[in-house]
Amino acid sequence: MSYVDEVIETVVKENPSEPEFHQAVKEVLESLRPVIEKNEAKFRRDALLERLVNPERQIKFRVPWIDDNGQVHVNTGYRVQFSSAIGPYKGGLRLHPSVNLGIIKFLGFEQIFKNSLTGLPIGGGKGGSDFDPKGKSDREVMAFCQSFMSELCKYIGADTDVPAGDIGTGAREIGYMFGEYKKLRGLFEGVLTGKGLSYGGSLARTEATGYGVLYILEEMLKCHGIDIKGKIITVSGSGNVATYAIEKATQLGAKVVTCSDSTGWVYDPDGIDVPALKEIKEKNRQRLREYPKYRPNAKYFDGKGVWTVKSDIAIPCATQNELTLEDAKMLVANGVIAVAEGANMPTTAEATEYFLDNKILFLPGKAANAGGVATSALEMSQDSERIKWSFEEVDTKLKHIMINLYHSIDDAAKKYEMQDNFVVGANIAGFEKVVDAMDAQGIV
Ligand code: NDP
Repeated sequence: MSYVDEVIETVVKENPSEPEFHQAVKEVLESLRPVIEKNEAKFRRDALLERLVNPERQIKFRVPWIDDNGQVHVNTGYRVQFSSAIGPYKGGLRLHPSVNLGIIKFLGFEQIFKNSLTGLPIGGGKGGSDFDPKGKSDREVMAFCQSFMSELCKYIGADTDVPAGDIGTGAREIGYMFGEYKKLRGLFEGVLTGKGLSYGGSLARTEATGYGVLYILEEMLKCHGIDIKGKIITVSGSGNVATYAIEKATQLGAKVVTCSDSTGWVYDPDGIDVPALKEIKEKNRQRLREYPKYRPNAKYFDGKGVWTVKSDIAIPCATQNELTLEDAKMLVANGVIAVAEGANMPTTAEATEYFLDNKILFLPGKAANAGGVATSALEMSQDSERIKWSFEEVDTKLKHIMINLYHSIDDAAKKYEMQDNFVVGANIAGFEKVVDAMDAQGIV
């Protein structure tokens, strides 16, 4: 059996009930086949892949907190410190009822390669909890965040592990967690990113992931002789990534006609109204069904349906495995030319394969949404230097990072004679740097 197949089989056997983690490992290792097979004996002797797929450390802990009625609840907290080969662990904290160890491991594993692709010195990690901030009062969210941080603070630090936001963890949650860390550790340091501007946050971090998706998408299209201006785009999600992807797409002259949340979706033939979206989701924390009150021409539908709308480009920005083979077939039949993943692994393995088989330009999340973590790394730089860059400075650096990232995945795909396969390109380009660092640092 080949080394790649052997390791995939072991991962599945040793990590039962973690289908998302299996999916992420399979996708990465399958694309690394040509690189591994060139040097199989050495990689096998060094147990390189076993070291890559086993987190350096995984922490699981109890998070007790009291609700507004005096009832005590217990959630589970996680932090998976996957790889510190190229820098301190870096990756977000997800707060969502679906969170379990397998989900955090899949996200942490992806993060290793994503962070490497940014060209910045950051390792891979991820964390979170099955706590659901939705419908909780500010005091309840604070109680949870403080309890969560009272344990997590033992394992993180500005030079060891720097968590950030993710689904369910926005500016409010980061603020509460930072306050608790500072109190317990007595340190005002850049231990979290996505902080508020008044206490060490970076300008443009809020916008970075969504803007970054559009910067890399624009570059890819440009290199294929396609202008993004005038294109019709379907987006899913209406959170941080979706909102700023829609904003930048609109600024670049495209028209985004859909967005969604976990209860339904919106079709706006005139283009999504970003200020209305921000008011509903960011300010009022309401459901998307409020949207037609702001835009009478728009329609709201319960359930799933974004991918049934005809578009030139699709940008899934909600959650993992939200775009299925059936959706992919519909998008292709409707003439989609490009897909850029704003979320992490939103496209199922079968749907990804279908896009690639049909020559759709497909940018995987680890490349397309890397602008968020790249700007988090820029926030870390500003924190350690105790300076603040302007919005334009950060945005310009972000744009350069995304353009360079596109060319590095494009070059890697071409080097292995798989032109326009950016899944392979991203995995190989991310892997090469990590492996080089692992090799140099010996068996640790
Ligand atoms: P938010 O919590 O801000 O938004 C998530 C959006 O997706 C919301 O609209 C939410 O709906 C919807 N959603 C979440 N879970 C589900 C589900 N199970 N089914 C349907 N819809 C769902 O998160 P972000 O925008 O920050 O993150 C979105 C994705 O992007 C995630 O995969 C995340 O890992 C990834 N990402 C985020 C980065 C960042 O900087 N924020 C960086 C890189 C990747 P509702 O409002 O109903 O909850």
